[in-house]
This record gives sequence, C-alpha cells and structure tokens, in this order.
Amino acid sequence: MKPAIKRVWVLGAGQLGAMLKHAAQPLGVDLRPVDIALDANLPLDDGDVITAEREQWPSTKATDQLAAHPNFVNQEVFGLVADRVTQKQMLDRLNLPTAPWVLVTEQDTAAGLHQQYGARVLLKQRTGGFDGRGQHWLVEHQGSDNQTSPHLSNAIPHGWHNKVIAEQAIAFDEEVSIVGVRNRVGECHYYPLALNRHQDGILTVTLAPLERLSSLQNAAQAMLKKVMDELDYVGVMAMELFRVGERLLINELAPRVHNSGHWTQSGASISQFEYHVRATADLPLAPAVIKHKSVMINLIGIEYNLAWLALPGAEVFWYGKDVRPMRKVGHINFSMAHQVQLLDSLKSLQATLPDWYQPALDWAINELES
Ligand code: ATP
Ligand code: MG
Repeated sequence: MKPAIKRVWVLGAGQLGAMLKHAAQPLGVDLRPVDIALDANLPLDDGDVITAEREQWPSTKATDQLAAHPNFVNQEVFGLVADRVTQKQMLDRLNLPTAPWVLVTEQDTAAGLHQQYGARVLLKQRTGGFDGRGQHWLVEHQGSDNQTSPHLSNAIPHGWHNKVIAEQAIAFDEEVSIVGVRNRVGECHYYPLALNRHQDGILTVTLAPLERLSSLQNAAQAMLKKVMDELDYVGVMAMELFRVGERLLINELAPRVHNSGHWTQSGASISQFEYHVRATADLPLAPAVIKHKSVMINLIGIEYNLAWLALPGAEVFWYGKDVRPMRKVGHINFSMAHQVQLLDSLKSLQATLPDWYQPALDWAINELES
C-alpha cells in the first residue's frame, strides 16, 4: 500500500525541524522545515500536512500560509498549550496534579502570594518562556539560598501583572519526563520515563531508561494519555514532571518533539522525530524497541570540539547555530550495551567540558554507577 501523505511542512526551521527532516528522509517523506521569516510563496498542495516545531509564532508571510492550510495538525492545541493559563486550566479540568498556581492580577501582591503559597513562589511568563527564561523567583527575604534562577526578588516585577502565573515552589526529589505519540485513530506509544537534570533552568543531561523509575511508568503514561485523548492529539507530545516521593506532578506540556526525548535517536528503534513524522504523515506507528541505557548531554554555549567525535559510542548532533551563552547548540547521545564503556566515555567527555558541566556529569556518572 502506498503512503497517502508524502509531504509534511514544519513551521519553524530550528534544530527540531532539522532533526525531523533527518528522520523523515528514510521513510520516503518529503519533510520541509520553513523559516518563519521566509518571504516567499510556498507551493502547498491540498494533500500536504503541516506541523510545527514551536508552540508560538508571529504572523509572517510564511506562517500565515501554513496556518491557513486545512491540514494543520493539532492547530487548536498550540495556542492552548502555549499559554500557561489555558494549559493549567485544562490540566485542572482533567484532575491531573500540577504545582498549585494562580494567574497574577492587578490585585495581587507578593505578600499575598507568599501567604497563599509559602516563602518561595515562582512567577512564570504565561507565554514565550523557555530554558528557564521569563521566570522570576519571589522570595520573602532576599539573599535566600535558592539557586534555581539568578532572577529573584521580593516584589512582583513592574508590568508583570496579568502576564505571569504564580506557582508554589515544589520541593521535588527529581525531574522526569515522558514522551509519547498518538495517531489519528488514537493509538498511543510511550517511551520509558527519562530522568532530567537542569542546571540554571536549562536541561543539561537526560538519562533513560532507568529501572528505578519503572514503577512510575504506568501512572505517567495514563497522565499523558488523558491529555492527548482530550486534545485528540496527533504526533509526539512531551510531559515534564516533578517526582515527589511516589507522586508525579505535571510541570508543563510540550505539543511537539522535546529535548528530553533526544536520547531516542540513539536508544530506540524509532526516535521521537520518526514517530512524529509517522503520526503526522499517517504512517503505521509500531512500538519502539528500546536498545540500551542512554545518556543525552546538551551542548550549551560552547564551541564545537572535534574531540567529541573520538569518544567511543558518542553520537554528536551539532545544530550549526551561532554559539551564545546558555544557548543550546547541539547534543551528544550515548546508548551503549556495556556500562563500563559508557562510564569511560562519559568520563572522557567530562574532561572536554568546562567547569559549568562538572556537577551535571558527576551526577550522571553517579546515577549510572548506583
Ligand atoms: P523549558 O525549556 O522546558 O520549556 P521553561 O523555561 O519553559 O522550560 P519550566 O519547565 O516551567 O519552564 O521551568 C524550568 C525549570 O524550573 C524546571 O525544569 C524546574 O527545574 C524549575 N521549576 C519550574 N517550576 C517549578 C516549581 N513550581 N517549583 C520548583 N521548581 C520549578
Ligand atoms: Mg520545562
């Protein structure tokens, strides 16, 4: 049987679009990431489908053409998820646990928020935040020992009313995420929970799968399924979670392929990128077979180093972007059958990375050794 859909357009041409294209090629799908600034008429056909690598976009010549296409998959979902208020309202409606939250209005004061949520309250921009940007910790006494963000004070910043939500600080044990896929007829598949380490608000290392998280797998899958079914979602979705003991709280959703799923490029027979292409292009899904324990290290604000290519097992993904501080410019995956070799490679990698990385690599090595 011949595939019905052969061409998929992606709104956005960053690294996620590039990796979707890379995954689509062997499937015989012509996948075309579109730079939102492109000033050209796109040769869109009625039978094409449109997806996006980002939750939000400005109105441009390129995005207007894509957004007007009748086959824009999940079109209504993006606005709903992109605004933390409507995203959280949906999660509340579905009785899914999140950090307690409220929209910050003109009436709110820092003191009132502290009374409601305690000494540490996190303000998050409703839209547009990523990698910890657009966040602000309210602390009752300045100079607290909170290290999660450099942005902290004891007052709601000027102009932030109605533009942010306030969240209770969650004293989580660790951060995990689940990535899943759903097709048009509601068939779903999930990867094992991934363990994520953030540093300065930005994802630094992901480990998956981990035996010790398997007891939480069914609960996480059920939470993600509830959301995907509610939205009649098609494609890959990620759910970031806080683990508090044996409980999971949802931090946020991403209606797209997600950084914490990059390990699947090396550690699974079907990567998250391939799953997204399959689902949006209406191709069969099949369960992904997990290969080995995998580690993904983000390359953040550092220059390309050829020494990485010499590390046994290293699979380097360089995005070709300008290097700027705290910018994700690539990642390295390891998926290796032999733990000793994996640890050797991680230790060799650690020696090539600046100080900022050392705690994250120590953490990963420690987690694998335990
Ligand atoms: P992303 O790059 O994943 O889109 P983001 O900047 O949009 O991230 P969040 O994921 O909401 O925003 O927050 C970034 C990080 O801040 C989280 O991974 C977590 O480490 C910390 N954080 C977020 N919310 C809370 C909370 N309620 N309590 C404690 N820490 C939190
Ligand atoms: Mg996040």
